[in-house]
Amino acid sequence: MRIAMISEHASPLAILGGEDAGGQNTHVAELSAALAAAGHDVRVYTRRDAVDLPVTVRSPDGYDVVHVPAGPAEPVAKDALLPHMRTFGAWLVERWRGDWTPEVVHAHFWMSGLAAVQAGRQVGVPVVQTYHALGTVKRRHQGVQDTSPARRIGYELQLGRSVDRVIAQCRDEVGELVRMGVPRSAMTVVPSGVNLGTFAPLGPAAEREPGRARILTVGRLVERKGFQTVVRAMAHVPDAECVVVGGPPAGLLETDPYARRLRALARSCGVADRVRLVGAVPREEMGRWYRSADILVAAPWYEPFGLTPLEAMACGVPVVATAVGGLRDTVVDGVTGDLVPARDPRALGEALAGLLDDRIRRFAYAGAARARARQHYSWTVTAERLAEVYAEVAAVHRPTRVVA
Ligand code: UDP
Repeated sequence: MRIAMISEHASPLAILGGEDAGGQNTHVAELSAALAAAGHDVRVYTRRDAVDLPVTVRSPDGYDVVHVPAGPAEPVAKDALLPHMRTFGAWLVERWRGDWTPEVVHAHFWMSGLAAVQAGRQVGVPVVQTYHALGTVKRRHQGVQDTSPARRIGYELQLGRSVDRVIAQCRDEVGELVRMGVPRSAMTVVPSGVNLGTFAPLGPAAEREPGRARILTVGRLVERKGFQTVVRAMAHVPDAECVVVGGPPAGLLETDPYARRLRALARSCGVADRVRLVGAVPREEMGRWYRSADILVAAPWYEPFGLTPLEAMACGVPVVATAVGGLRDTVVDGVTGDLVPARDPRALGEALAGLLDDRIRRFAYAGAARARARQHYSWTVTAERLAEVYAEVAAVHRPTRVVA
């Protein structure tokens, strides 16, 4: 099939770890690669955020990345992109009326959905929507600190009611969408996959201090990822070191406000000598970091899906995670890892210390984690299931409509 992916702010070619570059970038890159490998013709449309970007770049994984001129050709915060979505959609219409018309559009994140619906309706192409994150959840957890456009939640509901199919990534998201008013019949649950080649138990591992246990935590350095809880929890975990991967490149950590706060917190908890910030790591090197760890900890306040625990599991690393969002589906409590309440440093610290003390349980979790990742989260299977959805929605005949 000819498949258009829209990922307005998250380019599959981006360097990850920065404030707006994380799971969605990985997801779009891996999904597009898996669909291309299955023989589909895939083009990913993302915003042109630098002047020197060519319109089309061929990814080594067999799909095209098209840079859409919408807004200034420079980085723009995700929460300031809404005004440029109409231009984004109009540009797609022009392109799709030319030589290449997709048979299906898969939009990632709500703003991509707006551009996709605008263009899809005019050209007569069905739209599949993955939200990746929901405004209602963000508002609930971040309150006044949520900088999303005020209309986000309303647009997300409208999208859910107007697209041809909504892809939910976990059970928690289904519940949220139903409570918002999106019909259950519009949804199909397809969890994200994990790259089982890159993330495998065997392979090179990052260096570590002999005799000292390593707890790893990975993610964009943003408040809701709960790194503060991890640092506080370290006070309850004797001897082990905590390595934090993500955020700006290592050279810029000194000036990053959140990294500075984490370091100050580590000093005030008396664990500064055991907490190490690494900064952003290229995706190809992530496997080395997971394999170097005894435990991966993910302690977000909320998490729409959460790729990092899954990547660790695929490497055969036990996970201690907060029982929120997608983590409640991926981590099986007492089988592949432990689930703890969010924002509770003591509970987290005790779970980590208990697991570090118990080599046999770690070993059992590691094997079960790898098996679960292989059985339920391979990209080949995820891409197959999504291709089925694409074929279903594309089979419905729809008239083209010119919107005045
Ligand atoms: N990641 C990376 N380098 C980093 C930090 C993160 O490649 O320095 C990747 C990580 O391997 C994962 C993604 O970024 O694929 C983060 O996804 P997740 O779903 O955990 O969080 P999100 O960013 O979507 O909130």
